[in-house]
Amino acid sequence: MTGKARVRFAPSPTGSLHIGGAHTALFNWLYARRNGGSFILRIEDTDMERSTKEYEQSILDGMRWMGLDWDEGPDKGGDFGPYRQSERMDLYRKYAKQLLDEGKAYEKDGAVFFKVVPGKELRFRDEVYGNLDFKSENASVNHDGTIKDIVIMKRDGMPTYNYAVVIDDYTMGINMVIRGEDHIINTPKQLLIYDALGFEAPGFAHLPMILGKDKKKLSKRQGATSVFEYNDMGYLPDGVFNFLALLGWSPKNGQEIFSREEAVEMFDISAVTRKAAVLDMDKLNHINQEQMKIMDPMKLLAVIRPFWIEMGFDLSGLSDEYLASALHTMGGRGQTTKQLAEYSDYFVTFDVVKARYDASEIKEETRAVVKKFYNALLSECAEWKADKMEEFTKEWIAANDSSMKEVCLPLRWALTGRKVSPGVFEVAEQLGRDECRRRLEYYDLV
Ligand code: GLU
Repeated sequence: MTGKARVRFAPSPTGSLHIGGAHTALFNWLYARRNGGSFILRIEDTDMERSTKEYEQSILDGMRWMGLDWDEGPDKGGDFGPYRQSERMDLYRKYAKQLLDEGKAYEKDGAVFFKVVPGKELRFRDEVYGNLDFKSENASVNHDGTIKDIVIMKRDGMPTYNYAVVIDDYTMGINMVIRGEDHIINTPKQLLIYDALGFEAPGFAHLPMILGKDKKKLSKRQGATSVFEYNDMGYLPDGVFNFLALLGWSPKNGQEIFSREEAVEMFDISAVTRKAAVLDMDKLNHINQEQMKIMDPMKLLAVIRPFWIEMGFDLSGLSDEYLASALHTMGGRGQTTKQLAEYSDYFVTFDVVKARYDASEIKEETRAVVKKFYNALLSECAEWKADKMEEFTKEWIAANDSSMKEVCLPLRWALTGRKVSPGVFEVAEQLGRDECRRRLEYYDLV
């Protein structure tokens, strides 16, 4: 590869951005950013029947959601436009004519066929798969093994993928093609066309296949789903980015949790593996949780808020500071934003607590003890801070022949309506003394 790196992501707008596409886009982006090059977005919309503007928009939105910005593209322009294949018909016609004029192609039944000449060695070095050799007579074959000339322009006047991709990659100055390994088989066909037109071929790097946990090709359920569905399931863009970057690659230092900037810093295309990568949702959950832990609290709040609203909560009376601090109090619980929104619901509204808990299990003698304690805590604990409350509690139970369990269990239930929560005094501190009193009063515990 010579000159500044120019790579491209070339999706067909026949569906939303799914995990496989996002993975390819991400590796192109990493390569461009790592090498100070350009990342180009080209829309391959020659399948007129299946391509839609809505899918194109959804792909662009999906890339933005992932934090993958591009330097040239249909929405941005650039020196090598247009960036939609449907707008580049002149180029496809021009080079088809050249091939026809030079006797390298012929017309039949209204289509243009590229003549595959046998006896040519086709070699290329793949950054991932190493040196690959093919013979031209094997590049495109019929079922019986005989050579099959390559259709470059179809009867309807549209170019085929293997032809348009060559014209575009060449005329757009692409010097490194990074795409899924399912395209290795197409590369010899493309090399024949580069050669016939006298174009210098780009470098190639094919990415390993992504398999479902069952080791089978990704099904619709397993990742062929749009990246937005990952958002709805509670995954952060940072989490999905981190997870996808680790499919087929890992940093030399073994670091597992990283930011985009760190990934750019560490990325090395030659360290990409050939082995198929398995889409492991447990790993995604783990990475997502770690990314939530290191996220800026206000940014985390921004992604949690829609989930709370969807759960029907009214957030109008609660400050951003209070809500962000409540999330912080959760101490890294929850693997997805959706889970975190659910687990922390009692900080947003007491209604959910009331719906879950009725305090009917508290025996009369226990009630008398805890009432005494909660009254003391509310009125005598000088500072409403977790460590101070804990200290106060320890002294009180020692003096009153009670136990942590006896006084804290009903307190946790009354404040959260849950069996499991962060430390009960942390929860109490976050809710504030008045709100704690209100909740305890409701349960007749003060
Ligand atoms: N439009 C093709 C695809 O989505 C692009 C393949 C390539 O990168 O050459 O598979």
